[in-house]
Amino acid sequence: MPSYDIQFQKGLSLQEFMARYGTEEQCVEAICKARWRDGFVCPECGSTRHYRLARGLFQCQDCRHQTSPTSGTIFQGTKLPLTIWFLAMHLLTQGKHSVSALELKRQLGVHYETAWTMKQKIIQVMLEREAQTVLSGRIEVDDAYIGGERHLGKRGRGAAGKTPFVVAVQTDPKNPAIVLHMRMKVLKHVAARDLKPWFRHGFTKGSTILTDGWQAYNFLDGAGFNHEPHKMPGGWRSAKHPAFPWVNTVLGNLKGNIVGVTRWVGKAHLDRYLAEFQYRFNRRFNLKSMLSRLLTVAVQTPALPQPLLKLAWMGRAT
Ligand SMILES: [Zn+2]
Repeated sequence: MPSYDIQFQKGLSLQEFMARYGTEEQCVEAICKARWRDGFVCPECGSTRHYRLARGLFQCQDCRHQTSPTSGTIFQGTKLPLTIWFLAMHLLTQGKHSVSALELKRQLGVHYETAWTMKQKIIQVMLEREAQTVLSGRIEVDDAYIGGERHLGKRGRGAAGKTPFVVAVQTDPKNPAIVLHMRMKVLKHVAARDLKPWFRHGFTKGSTILTDGWQAYNFLDGAGFNHEPHKMPGGWRSAKHPAFPWVNTVLGNLKGNIVGVTRWVGKAHLDRYLAEFQYRFNRRFNLKSMLSRLLTVAVQTPALPQPLLKLAWMGRAT
C-alpha cells in the first residue's frame, strides 16, 4: 500500500468504536467471542453445556464450574469497567504515535497509576504477539542506541547509560522502497552472542541480510543467510548509511515516537516500548481491524504478575 493510502486509510472512528464497544455487555461479548470462537467450552471438563449468570459468568451444566470471561486474560481481576479497557486499547492502536500514560489518564478519567498499569498490560500483549513475527526475503539490519543523553542515535558502544538495540526492516523483494515488516530487539551488547538467538528465531533461512559490515554480523555468513555487508566509505558508522534508507526512516520515526511521547524510556521497559512501536508499524495497513486483532491476543495473554508490575512501576517510564 503506498504511504499516502496508509495515512488516509479509514481507521475505526470513535463513533464506530462506541457503536461496537460502547457498553459493558458489548465488551463482555467481544471477549467471549475472541476466547471461544465456536462457543463456550468449560476449562474444567470440556463440556459446552452451560448457563449464563450475572456479570457474564458461565456456569458449566455438567461439573458446575464457574468461569469468568476475563479469567486467564489481561483483564483478569480488573475492577475497572471493560469499556475503559477497550477505550485504552482503541487509543493505543488507532493513532500514528504512542499515547503516554499521562494522556491515557486524561482521556480515560482514571488515576495515573491505573492508566500506567493498563498501558503496561496492553503493551505486554503487543510484545507477545510481536515475538512471533518472522522476517524473510530482503532485510536491512542496523543497530542504534537509546538513552544516555536522552536521545536516540547511532551506536555509541561503551557509553554509560546507553542501551543498544537492533532494527531489521523487510522490504518488498521487487521494490526496496516499499517496507513490509520490521523487528526490533534490545541488546546487552552489539555482539554476535547477543544477535545470534534473535536471528535464529525471527528470520527465515536463505534471506538476504544487508548490514554495514560491523564484525558482530560476520556470523551471518555461516548461519544460513545471504549476508551482504555494505561498508561505509567514510569510516565506522559515522553517518546515515545510504544502503539502508528504511532503517534510517524507522529510526527517525522511533525517535519522534518514543522520545517525543514518553520522553524517557527506562532500560527495563525498552523492549515493551519497542514492541508497541513495532506492533503498530506492522499493522499499519489495516487500522480498522487492529483492535479486534489485539483483543484476540489479549484473551490468550495472562495479565502481567503484580510483583513484576511493581518492579516496573518503581523504574517507570511514562
Ligand atoms: Zn465443566
